Amino acid sequence: MKVELRNLTKIFPSRNKKSGEEVIAVNDFTFTIPDGKLIGLLGPSGCGKSTTLYMISGLQKPTSGQIFFGEDDVTELSAENRGIGLVFQNYALYPHMTVKQNILFPLQNLKGADKLPKAEMLQRAYEAAKLVQIDELMDRKPGELSGGQQQRVAIARALVKMPKVLLLDEPLSNLDARLRLQTREEIRRIQKETGITTIFVTHDQEEAMSISDMIVVMKLGVVQQTGRPQEVYDDPTNLFVAKFLGTPPINVFAGEVKSEKLYIGGVAVLDVPGVEDREVTVGIRPEGFVPDANGPLVCKLNSVEVMGRDVSVVSTHASSLNPIVRSIVNSDYRISSEETVRYSLKSHKVFLFDRRDETRIRF
Ligand code: ADP
Ligand code: MG
Repeated sequence: MKVELRNLTKIFPSRNKKSGEEVIAVNDFTFTIPDGKLIGLLGPSGCGKSTTLYMISGLQKPTSGQIFFGEDDVTELSAENRGIGLVFQNYALYPHMTVKQNILFPLQNLKGADKLPKAEMLQRAYEAAKLVQIDELMDRKPGELSGGQQQRVAIARALVKMPKVLLLDEPLSNLDARLRLQTREEIRRIQKETGITTIFVTHDQEEAMSISDMIVVMKLGVVQQTGRPQEVYDDPTNLFVAKFLGTPPINVFAGEVKSEKLYIGGVAVLDVPGVEDREVTVGIRPEGFVPDANGPLVCKLNSVEVMGRDVSVVSTHASSLNPIVRSIVNSDYRISSEETVRYSLKSHKVFLFDRRDETRIRF
């Protein structure tokens, strides 16, 4: 099912009539989620991800704008009638019911023409449980399950009604690191197997990048950029997006362009054809540094960390806007001097931004 958002806006009125200001939680969000894809809705806490998801689910009414499922305008439709499955961060299972009863619950609540025979309900519950690999645990209570297992039950419960759209709001946040990795792969597998259009909300860029067909990056209610994860990483539209994506994060410097050359700390480090003379903010991806005995960018060496295949070089530079400069270089790299490390730069890993409005300056 294709999901289309048209100029979706949500404004929360101020709580305090005199001094409080209204909150524009989501501001003019227009986007089409193609049928059968997994979309990662990504941004820092408070940027409007949950509000967007709740509007798509029908739990919250937009202040303005429209939502379409396929060709149907569902903006005024109640949550029960939208055919969505919803999974929250806290699994919200019924503690006194078994896993089986929890998964059956949405089916038992179906009314009128939607009502299913008991045998079919059971069959569907077992199919959903099998899909998330908890069919061995059907007679346990939630208290007898691990966090990862509980979250699988919540996903099975969302899938049992065969939703047209699956909405996941930070579903992995309560899991430990290893389970989080494992469960996100599971979600990807389930999504591919079922082909359900899925919107996955997270503040964790790595999580979104690893499982999404497309990501949508939000800041303060406003969509900053949409695209395939690698596309957005390789071609960020502004400094916010460049900084939000990537581990280790992008390195940021104060710089200046003169006669189509980029200067950092008064030293020309890169040709930037077509860029007018101006002050800029420079972003350099960790993999954009090439150790080079004659390289123009000279950093003061702090430490060299070997991380399996990669070597991470930690240094400082007077023009860096972060406390450290972290590069990722080849493992055959050997430091020649104890005090400094010199780099040349890979042009396609260097991004320039306007000093004031932080938009991208292309070269
Ligand atoms: P996210 O899920 O990205 O962390 P939310 O969508 O929950 O962000 O919130 C977006 C903004 O809207 C925040 O500033 C939040 O404080 C505000 N907000 C969310 N829900 C309400 C509400 N019911 N009443 C007032 N303000 C709200
Ligand atoms: Mg949220």
